[in-house]
Formats: sequence, C-alpha cells, structure tokens
Amino acid sequence: MLEAFRNEPFTDFSPAHQAQAFKEALKRVEKELGREYRPIVGGERIDVDRFAPSVNPANPKQVIGIVGQADRELAARAIREASEAFRTWSRVPGSERARYLYKAAALLRRRKFEFSAWMVYEAGKSWVEADVDTAEAIDFMEFYAREMERLEERQPLYRIVGEDNELTYIPLGVGVVIPPWNFPLAIMVGMTTSALVAGNTVVLKPASPTPVIAAKFVELLHEAGLPPEAVAFLPGSGGEVGDALVEHPLTRFVSFTGSREIGLRINEKAAKAQPGQRWIKRVIAEMGGKDAIVVDSDSDLNAAAEAIVVSAFGFAGQKCSACSRAIVHEAVYDEVLAKVAERASKLVVGDPTDGATYMGPVIDEKAYLSILAYIESGRREGRIVCGGGKAAGDGYFIEPTVIADVEPGARIAQEEIFGPVVAFIRAASFDEALRIANDTDYGLTGAVFSRSRAHLERARREFHVGNLYFNRKCTGALVGVHPFGGFNLSGTDSKAGGRDYLLLLTQAKLLSEKM
Ligand code: GLU
Repeated sequence: MLEAFRNEPFTDFSPAHQAQAFKEALKRVEKELGREYRPIVGGERIDVDRFAPSVNPANPKQVIGIVGQADRELAARAIREASEAFRTWSRVPGSERARYLYKAAALLRRRKFEFSAWMVYEAGKSWVEADVDTAEAIDFMEFYAREMERLEERQPLYRIVGEDNELTYIPLGVGVVIPPWNFPLAIMVGMTTSALVAGNTVVLKPASPTPVIAAKFVELLHEAGLPPEAVAFLPGSGGEVGDALVEHPLTRFVSFTGSREIGLRINEKAAKAQPGQRWIKRVIAEMGGKDAIVVDSDSDLNAAAEAIVVSAFGFAGQKCSACSRAIVHEAVYDEVLAKVAERASKLVVGDPTDGATYMGPVIDEKAYLSILAYIESGRREGRIVCGGGKAAGDGYFIEPTVIADVEPGARIAQEEIFGPVVAFIRAASFDEALRIANDTDYGLTGAVFSRSRAHLERARREFHVGNLYFNRKCTGALVGVHPFGGFNLSGTDSKAGGRDYLLLLTQAKLLSEKM
C-alpha cells in the first residue's frame, strides 16, 4: 500500500554540508547555461526559425537558455496532435497514469537541488524560495496522483433494486496549460500533471520569462516514461501562441495562472464558440490578489510585524498571495509600522546565488519599471518609510518598500503591484479594518492578527478571501493542507492542491444497467 500523502520537507541550509551541496548544484547548472531548447510536439523536437533568450534577472547579460519560439501554425498542429494522442492516453487507467506522476516525483526528489538551482538563475529566487518551490512541485504530483486513485474508486451512489449503477470521472480532452513565472516549477507542474493524471493531453505554453525550467521538467516527464505525445511543449508569445491555443476549436479547456488582465482576456476568447467546436470550453483561472494583513489592537505585534515582512517581501513580493496591504488598528499603528520598517531595512537584497540573500531581483524590465512607477505613485499617495527605489546591482533590484498613511481607495491600495511594496493603512476600529480589507476587486488571501476570539470569529464569517489565515503569514499555502485559490477577480474559485481540483479537469459519467 502506498504511504499517505505528506508534504515534502524543506531544506535547512544552515548545516555546512547542505550549503556546500547547493553551491555545487549551482556550479553544475551554471555550466549548462546558454543551451538551446526547442518546442516539442507529438513527442518530436521541432525545428523553428525564431529563438528568444531567457535571461537571468539578477544579471540580464547572462543567458539561461536560447528557446525556440512556436508560431500560430505550430500551435494549431500541437492541438491537433494532442487531440489525436487523447484517444490513447484517455484510455490508460487512472492508476497507471498516477504511476507516471509518482515516478516523476521520485526523480525530482533526487534532483531537487539541481531544479532549485535552475530557478535561482532563471527566476531570481533565493535558495529558500527555490527550495520551497521544488518541494511544492513534488507535493503536487504526489497529491494529484493519489487524488486520481481516489476518483477511480467506486463512487458512493444510492442503490435501487434491480440495477447496477456506477459513476465514473472521465477526462475532458485537450487542455491548454498557461502557467506563471513566479512559481515556475511548482505551479507549472501542478497545472500540467493534474490535467495529465486526469486523462487529458496537454499543450504547455511556458511562461515567457521561465521557459528553461519548464523544458527541464518536460524532459523529466519523458524520463519518467510518460508517453511523449501526451504533453506538447510550446514556448512562444502569449499574444500569438497563447491566443491561437485558446481559440482552437479542438481545445477543450484552458488552465491559466497569471494576471487578471490576461485571465479575463482568455476567458473572453474561450467563451466564443469556433466553427466546428463541439463543447463549451472550460476555463480555470487563478489571477491576482491585493491581499491584506489586518492587525488588531491586542495582537502579538512582533509576530504581526514578522508576518507582514515575510508575506510582503518573500520572493520580492512576486506572489499573488503576497501581503500588499497592512491594515492596522490605530492604537498599535505606529508601533507595527516601526517594527516592519526596521525589519525590512535589514533584509539582504542582491544576487540570489549567494546563500545570504533574502530578496533577489524582480523578474524583468517591464516588471521593474512598473513597480518603480507604483512606488512613485506611493510617494504622492503616502509616506515612504523604508526603501523607495532601485537597489544596487546590474539586475532588476528594488528595495523592500514600506509606504505609510495610505488611503484605502488609493491606487497603491487597490491595484496589484506584484513587487516588494507594502502599503500601511490606518483603521479606527476592527470593524473598519475588516471593511477596508474587503474593499477590493480581489479575494485571494488574507490574514488577521488578534487575540480576541470574537474578532477572529467575525473575520471567519466576513473576510471574503479564498485563503484566510489567523495569527500567521498569508503566503506559503501547503498542498493538501491549505488548498489554494481565491474569490472575485482572483479567479474561478478553484482550489489547487485540494480534493475538488481534479473535478475541474474531468466530467462525470453515469452508467446504469438493468439486472
Ligand atoms: N500558493 C502560493 C502561496 O500560498 C502563491 C501562489 C501564487 O503566487 O500564484 O504563497
């Protein structure tokens, strides 16, 4: 019997041998930088004319890989071939499909440091953030494989005399998977392998800033024995390849994680039935957040300050779960602000290959300029108490920035910045704090620090977010423990790493036989 699911442990880099082993992984990966990666369709590497470099955000002159770019024509071919492959893959028993995931998880566990090292170079993750990302990727495979086995069991139905009835979950068809760059391994792996294990074939369009880590994972799936035609690897531009994939009449569903703007665009395009299309496409979208930590007057202020710092500045705030609003009761506002500013000013910003770095660069020039522009708005909409601009280095480094005295309706309190910036908002009461927390288009994560049972109970009922945490940070959801996904414009209310996730990728078929 298979062991019960348990989360992959995180690595403690404090013992010298672990730090040494990670440095060696970084060196090995460094030797592999700059290689060429091509699209894979129908199990074959495809020759293309256009290539784009993937670069290190900490040092944009360093090329991580040269990546062949698909066009609309190749996108259409990938969907057609995936549709062909669906005929056989969909008939492989669920428990067999699960075994490919168990095998891939085992291979990834053995090569954990190597995959994490790729993320340090390609996404600018610190050692710890990269390690957590790889652990979550392993978790997703272990979890969804078990989930498929559970779905394959006989589902409970009421019995009636003289009939044999059975409910089974069958796959949907070809899924287009468009993952984000911020968890370039974990979320990409979760989205891809959940679709596969449920019996769908996948066309994976990796995030443009992090295609190499995705290419490495597709190689790992092949090594695990997955039939190569079950997953196509299709790097290319969102506007060209992404749209062509979403619009294709043979596409059955789209699984997307990324910005609200692109999520809504995909939803709109997918809603339009194309000539020859025989279904309504399903869209699973995980979008942004404007997540808040509420600090009540009686809470543990050190714990609250620590949670705000970790949630706002972990991976430079580039998580949709990140705390971008600290809503603090006026009785403790100055104290919490001072504690957060003090901690934030001590964070080590720099090259993430260095184990002492807490916060690396932001992902690319576009993000860098957009975040700096938000900080400039923040200068007008509030008072900068920490950071406030570029940090030293040749890459896209930004200082951890704390902006105080922001009005709840201000631009920096409403729009997702996706960078290391937190806005402090003063609340006159716990009531007002909750009201401000809910005054957003989003509803992804939130946290409340309070010692009042009555206040926590109220927040349970009224704080409208998909992932609500009490007296702890609002990032770091664990697979199977904290199913993850939000309300309103944060997405389609799905829960990654939860027991209802595979239902989104399947359809139920009832079989009734008279006996
Ligand atoms: N699941 C991650 C967390 O809980 C965030 C995922 C995301 O940023 O998309 O921090």
